[in-house]
Amino acid sequence: MDIVKADLFGFCFGVRRAVDIVEDKLDERKRIDTLGPIVHNPNVVEDLSEKGAEVVNSLDNVDTDSVIITAHGAGRDIHEEIEDKGLNLIDTTCPIVKKAQETAEDLVQKGYQVVIYGENDHTEVRNILGWLDGKGVAILDPAKEVSIPEGRVALLSQTTKGKKYFFDFAGKFLRENKDKLEDVKIVDTTCGETRRRYEAAERMAEQVELILVVGGKNSANTRKLAEVAGNTGVETHHIKDESEIEPGWLEGVERVGITAGASTPESAVSSVEETLRKLNQS
Ligand code: SF4
Repeated sequence: MDIVKADLFGFCFGVRRAVDIVEDKLDERKRIDTLGPIVHNPNVVEDLSEKGAEVVNSLDNVDTDSVIITAHGAGRDIHEEIEDKGLNLIDTTCPIVKKAQETAEDLVQKGYQVVIYGENDHTEVRNILGWLDGKGVAILDPAKEVSIPEGRVALLSQTTKGKKYFFDFAGKFLRENKDKLEDVKIVDTTCGETRRRYEAAERMAEQVELILVVGGKNSANTRKLAEVAGNTGVETHHIKDESEIEPGWLEGVERVGITAGASTPESAVSSVEETLRKLNQS
């Protein structure tokens, strides 16, 4: 059995940067608190936790003098609360997420209501909405949503959504709501890093009979990567790590492809590759 790896996979620069900042801080001190998991990958979070980075779910639980905001950013209320509590802020917000936050805030100041194509309960989306004083909503399907803004509306995207899906959404939004809209701005805030991983998975799919997508089940971009890979028609499985590989998947397969989400470290892919080689020999 041959193993083919996508020509681009794993940590994006935003996640790499966030993990590097946390590791640098841990070189200076024994313990640091991160507000939420630094990346949506349980193995990376566990590894950082062993080194001293504790995940807290509320600023009330921070018991050091500093707190880390993750690559997904934080809303204005959280920034204000950190200041009120006198905590040092270590901000690892990805520059691309920061740009989406600033763009959305600027559009609200110019009189637009913001619609984000994305998941309401996703940390990044909640934190973009957290800068908009209630003048933004997250929507996935304009035909199903009941509270669509009217008048001056700006459409943005959760960064991890595919560009094509965002523009399909924008087209549908315009068709469904054309009578209620006065002025529409469409700003592409999708992230090229994730898009390039999706495209690499599609290229790899042309050479393999089975695809394994490695990464946290709570990672939106890894789930999307698995969806994109599955849409090619090649049998695809999203696995958290090598422990989830089922030997039965490999029966009769001559070429298996591996890719990984933007929050998955290279080491996780190496472990999957090693396990596949062992299963192939047994
Ligand atoms: S996927 Fe893109 S937006 Fe998200 S952290 Fe990585 S570089 Fe930043």
